[in-house]
Amino acid sequence: MRTRRQFMLQGLGALAVAAVGARRAGAAVVKRPLGCVDLGALDGCADLVRRAEWDDQPAKTWLLREAGGYNRLTVHHLGQWARVETDRNAVECAVRNVCAGHRARGYGDIGYHFVIDHAGRVWEGRSLAYEGAHVSGANEGNLGVMLMGNFDEQRPVPAQIKVLDALTARLREIFMIKRYRVYGHRDLNATACPGRNLYEHVVELRT
Ligand SMILES: [Zn+2]
Repeated sequence: MRTRRQFMLQGLGALAVAAVGARRAGAAVVKRPLGCVDLGALDGCADLVRRAEWDDQPAKTWLLREAGGYNRLTVHHLGQWARVETDRNAVECAVRNVCAGHRARGYGDIGYHFVIDHAGRVWEGRSLAYEGAHVSGANEGNLGVMLMGNFDEQRPVPAQIKVLDALTARLREIFMIKRYRVYGHRDLNATACPGRNLYEHVVELRT
């Protein structure tokens, strides 16, 4: 025959199991299946260069954090490339360099989710299944979009702005990101990024 204490312990055990189950169920409900985001949803707003077209090294996923959803978007510039480069091979080389630099810093993969070049191409960066590595202390739920160029020294070309506008609008629509939650990197960290000439456009994008 079980004692009163044994019944209590049994009850507590059942509660603990129920709590774990609830946490699992809650996580499953909250977490969106971002690995399944179909970039085909960007067709028509972006000339997309898929990751497999420019990089054959798999991301070190054990260094990445799974994304739980996105509620903000941050715009960056490269900051080192004050020229207009539209040649696909040259841009590919530059994007690979950015990725290699981020890997060397231990990011496990390129930190941005998308890169926009001067021809208006959009290069697929880090998978949307993972949080980016582009804003110190504020990567959670934060989509990272980088434009090639140095916009303290040059102005973004119309092709970049057109694609930035279209990409931002589509991503806001997909993830239901509020307009005021579109940032320039300088809004979140002490940095000049994305350069004053691009930042003025970011301000227009969110107002
Ligand atoms: Zn930045």
